[in-house]
Amino acid sequence: MPDSHQPDSYQLVETMLQQPLPNGDVVCNLCLWRCRLQHGQRGFCQAHVNRNGTLYNLSYGIISAIEVESIRNKPVYHYRPDSRVMSIGSYGCNFRCKGCHNLDISWGVDALDKLARGQSTDAWIGPQQIIETALKHGVDGIAFTYSEPAVWLEYVVDVSKLAHEAGLFTVYVSNSFVTDEALEIMAPHIDVLCSDIKSLSAEFYRDVCPVSTVDQVLGSIEKAANLGIHVETRTNVIPTKNDNPEELASIAEWIRDHLGKDSPWHVTKFFPAYKLSHLPATDNAIIEQAAAAGRELGLQHVYAHTDISCDCATENAPVSAWLELDPDALDEVNKCSATCCGDEGILVKKFEREAGLLAK
Ligand code: SF4
Ligand code: SF4
Repeated sequence: MPDSHQPDSYQLVETMLQQPLPNGDVVCNLCLWRCRLQHGQRGFCQAHVNRNGTLYNLSYGIISAIEVESIRNKPVYHYRPDSRVMSIGSYGCNFRCKGCHNLDISWGVDALDKLARGQSTDAWIGPQQIIETALKHGVDGIAFTYSEPAVWLEYVVDVSKLAHEAGLFTVYVSNSFVTDEALEIMAPHIDVLCSDIKSLSAEFYRDVCPVSTVDQVLGSIEKAANLGIHVETRTNVIPTKNDNPEELASIAEWIRDHLGKDSPWHVTKFFPAYKLSHLPATDNAIIEQAAAAGRELGLQHVYAHTDISCDCATENAPVSAWLELDPDALDEVNKCSATCCGDEGILVKKFEREAGLLAK
């Protein structure tokens, strides 16, 4: 999207990094899925749709959750450690983690279906209004979080530009399944990356996320650091999935060798959720042992977290609570542009089917 154009009401916004093909298909290069979409199809994240040979982001300005909190909750400990951020997120994610705590947000199918049909009553908040809200609440930065921010990068970049102009810093909380092209676009506008390293095992990523490859994730994290973004990493230790001491030690070694001894590593506790509800919460001793092993391997800043897990949004106040607007007025906004719905309907679940997430 051109720098000069920021919509002042809801509309479909053209997807960044789209690659049209002669037959009308379009490839999205925001994340490493690189979805190739026919007219009427939506990407794996559900947030981008092909309408007659052009890709559009459905979720630009649609806020699913908002919260003011310490930057330490992200967790980020080595960038402006006493600061507060306003965390925001939308709908859709490029992973489908079996232990996700944010299903309504990350899968977001219901909300994104309604957006595609023009039936949404979710709050639309333009970039300028987000900045004004952040300044009103006296925060120091904006954090894009709750699901993978790459799936609404158009909004993330627009908000981040205004944030820097207003003297606010920006934090990007990620699974790092993003393309080099997306990283290069975001790098001038993002100050901090807090990234998961869920495992070094390709089998873990296939089983729990699923579908991504660990090499791609690690490559993205290293690229972000090389682009000058302050990087802190986080590993959520899940019983029987990635709690093997050797595997956790190998993550620490990777951080030491690729990001540096002084790169912060946060080891967090798993709490049961969704398809991993049958597993127990992680024993605190495992968290402490993994952290101790990281320190023995030379990492200088390792933090054991036994009280926080994923970036859970379930306790957040409604978006309207943060705005000086009549909440009813937000609901009056019709989210459908005139040419919104394609003949082929709104949703072809091709990608979910290919990933084995749907019944055949
Ligand atoms: S999952 Fe979404 S962001 Fe990723 S390539 Fe597909 S459409 Fe683009
Ligand atoms: S755990 Fe994070 S990366 Fe995984 S589906 Fe949920 S929001 Fe997305």
